Amino acid sequence: MVAYSSIVQSSRAATPREITKLKRVNLLLIFACLSAAQTHAKQPVKTVNAPVKKNCDSGVVLKLSSGASSQGTLILAEISGAKHPQEFTAEWAGRPTPLWREAPASTTLHALLGVDLEKPAGSYEWKISWSTADGKPLACSLAVTVRAGKFPTERLTVEKQFVQPDPEQQKRAEEDAKKMQAIYDTVTPEVLWKGKFVLPLKGVSTGGNFGRRRVLNGEARSPHAGVDFPAAAGTPVYAAQSGKVVLAENLYYSGNTVVIDHGFGIHTLYAHLSEIEVHAGDPVEVSAEIGKVGATGRVTGPHLHWGLTINHARVNALQIVQRQP
Ligand SMILES: [Zn+2]
Repeated sequence: MVAYSSIVQSSRAATPREITKLKRVNLLLIFACLSAAQTHAKQPVKTVNAPVKKNCDSGVVLKLSSGASSQGTLILAEISGAKHPQEFTAEWAGRPTPLWREAPASTTLHALLGVDLEKPAGSYEWKISWSTADGKPLACSLAVTVRAGKFPTERLTVEKQFVQPDPEQQKRAEEDAKKMQAIYDTVTPEVLWKGKFVLPLKGVSTGGNFGRRRVLNGEARSPHAGVDFPAAAGTPVYAAQSGKVVLAENLYYSGNTVVIDHGFGIHTLYAHLSEIEVHAGDPVEVSAEIGKVGATGRVTGPHLHWGLTINHARVNALQIVQRQP
């Protein structure tokens, strides 16, 4: 493509060698379009957004709420017929999938699979392994098609100091990122949630900006990993679910921030608060007030930025509202 455009843009006549190159590029383009059309035609329509199920060895059944999902979404997963549930391990996106049971005697295991908003489109597998009572290792897997999400792109030209933090700010931002990694690395093997997830502000029904790609001065930035709710400064912010506060402090980009651990790798984040009303280590109940809307951190106006992370995958938090994991 580079060769093609450089020839097209130049005003001189193309040399015979360049013409051959051009033809080859055109052929490649035609081939690429054809194969894309074929792939599209071959795609089994049946699997799109429909639950999938697989019968594995020794009566074990795997189920997913959807066999096809988009970037930034979540999938409910289930293993039933697990005679020795404690023997099961699962893997999604290169990480162990935390599995839980509704009751200690239950033979059904549950999990939430997050499709990170930057996970490349393609086919992936949720892999399960376990061993029988006599120690025989068994494995099973279920395929998930990940499609590219449809996210808006915003192109902005801003003054350089606004884009580039100074070395000290850069250092702070890196330390914050490390802290967040450590939080997301910690999987509390305990159900801390109670009932359904709720929106973190009263009187709102939806938020926006999830997944938005931003290009600042021609340079692509990390996509926007949360949902923004415009609200007046001072509006109370509530915990979307019960859990334990694992971070309650000021960070460089997200300002006054609260992160709540809900157990089994599920975390929610509340950013740009004017006030924080909880401390790290505090247990919180669903709908408890945890702070107030503000404009702290790198923002232009007051709003609540709300994030949901499922075992490191950044997903659209609106997806979990009114859902019991
Ligand atoms: Zn935001």
